[in-house]
Amino acid sequence: MAYAIDMHCDTLMETLYRHGEDADFYDKPDQHLDVKRLIEGKTMAQFMAIFFPPDVFFREYMHREPATEEEHIAGCVKVLKNTLERYPELVWQAYNAEDVERNFREGKTSLILTMEDGVAVHGDMKKLDAFYDLGVRALTLTWNFENCFGAPNSLDPAIMNKGLTDFGKEAVKHMQDIGMLVDVSHVSDGVFWDVYRLAKVPFVATHSNSRALCNHTRNMTDDMIRALAEKGGAMGLNIAPQFLDDTPENKESRIRDLVAMARHEKEVGGIGVVAIGTDFDGTGGNLELNGPDRMPALCDALIRDGFTADEVDLIMYGNVLRVMHEAMK
Ligand SMILES: [Zn+2]
Repeated sequence: MAYAIDMHCDTLMETLYRHGEDADFYDKPDQHLDVKRLIEGKTMAQFMAIFFPPDVFFREYMHREPATEEEHIAGCVKVLKNTLERYPELVWQAYNAEDVERNFREGKTSLILTMEDGVAVHGDMKKLDAFYDLGVRALTLTWNFENCFGAPNSLDPAIMNKGLTDFGKEAVKHMQDIGMLVDVSHVSDGVFWDVYRLAKVPFVATHSNSRALCNHTRNMTDDMIRALAEKGGAMGLNIAPQFLDDTPENKESRIRDLVAMARHEKEVGGIGVVAIGTDFDGTGGNLELNGPDRMPALCDALIRDGFTADEVDLIMYGNVLRVMHEAMK
């Protein structure tokens, strides 16, 4: 069993800068995720983020000057389009829940374009609309820096308590109107609570775990998990070692830690809040769940832990489909 809907990966950027803008991600053994392994793991849908890396990523890891925002967005979209055009019998783009369900019936894995970091919106609602027109159906409001939406997660309480900007509040309302899913992974606690107060439809934390089990500012407190569940939202289990086990210098990401997270999130927020958001190609370390082909191993581990088959289906895809039906147009 599997059929995961995974709410986060950084594969577009990885493919673009490792293999160039003419590349696709059908067969990329040097990465966590490719179409071959999406199919092998019986993936229902994969969110594909356009993430904006800091300049240091380009200079230190790619040994090149940073790409402009426009070049970067165009390159990521090109890699997605290359893959869709070359493998139409395997993958198809989706813009909402109905698309995912139709593609699934036709035996295809859905790819959904998302954006990690609202930085490229530059406080301009027209840009937000332009990204919607480009196909972006979920937006992570911030990454780890302050932007036009508001503040990121931080150890500094002055930043952590800061909420949405005036533009951020208007933009969150607008996103709910146009059907672009609001993602609170990476944001400050202040931004989380502002989004909660504004939420008319469910929102998500695409790739965040529980702070009670792993004390990291990127993870969610129990109060936040309850609030997210109250609004009908969901949070994606993240495989990054530092968000699973806060032992200093920990590099291990184990399936049993993901299961423990799922168990805790269910206890606190109910089964409806638990979902998948791996962060494939966006994290390092020794990953036991190191690709979408391994998703059945997570299903097995959940069953062994006492989750019912129906509950595993909800975690794998049911909860995100429900959210998408309500919040994505
Ligand atoms: Zn992230």
